[in-house]
Amino acid sequence: MSEPTDHAESTDRARQIETALTSVRERLSRACAEAGRTAQDVALLPVTKFFPASDVRTLYRLGCRDFGESREQDATPKVAETVDEFRDDPPRWHMIGHLQRNKAKSVAAWAQSIHSVDSLRLVNALSKAATAALEEGVRQAELDVLVQVSLDGDAHRGGVERDEVHALAEAVSSATGVRLAGLMAVPPLDADADAAFADLQSLHRRVLLDHPGARELSAGMTGDLEAAVRHGSTCVRVGTAILGARPITSQ
Ligand SMILES: *Cc1c(COP(=O)(O)O)cnc(C)c1O
Repeated sequence: MSEPTDHAESTDRARQIETALTSVRERLSRACAEAGRTAQDVALLPVTKFFPASDVRTLYRLGCRDFGESREQDATPKVAETVDEFRDDPPRWHMIGHLQRNKAKSVAAWAQSIHSVDSLRLVNALSKAATAALEEGVRQAELDVLVQVSLDGDAHRGGVERDEVHALAEAVSSATGVRLAGLMAVPPLDADADAAFADLQSLHRRVLLDHPGARELSAGMTGDLEAAVRHGSTCVRVGTAILGARPITSQ
């Protein structure tokens, strides 16, 4: 068999992504309709981690303006690679994975939001980095912060315990350079997704009492987006269903 040319390969890949994106968009709008919600209530965040900038370009051409990344060392060069070509209508990049404090400065230079904030020390590092980035003109708006909640108390999967959510939300809302945007969670492995997301939604409602601006609820991925939409998700983070299986399993 002869090798396909690079061009044919990239056209095939673009078609494959287009088909997958269309079906995820349909799936999301069906989930919204079934939950009695309007499609505009729930944003689709394509997760491009582990996939090359060429796939980001394809999604951008298909109208996507939000991209989720989980590793700073992959995301920073990808953002840099595309920044000039997207200059007229820049996309919003979202950091959704665990972040080390020493990467706060780098992420504050390109991220619209961080969905995975789970410690006071990280809040302080992000606040400092975002405040400096604002002063230097590197960024124009405060960094949106979502507090990641651990629904099962298994700390190594990320997230704060439920009884620490309030204190961390307070810390974000009183820090400079950052804005409390909402909550995020990944359901525990083997958990019932509906039960986990219902739990998350009730935590979110409690946070909203004190922080009415914290409207975002980042919940739902390829396997469980319908359940998340039933329980108030405002943003589903979808990787596999759009771009295919990742080269290695990752969080
Ligand atoms: C990778 C990742 C996703 C996407 O997961 P899929 O199951 O591939 O849709 C969502 N959220 C987080 C935090 C991730 O790290």
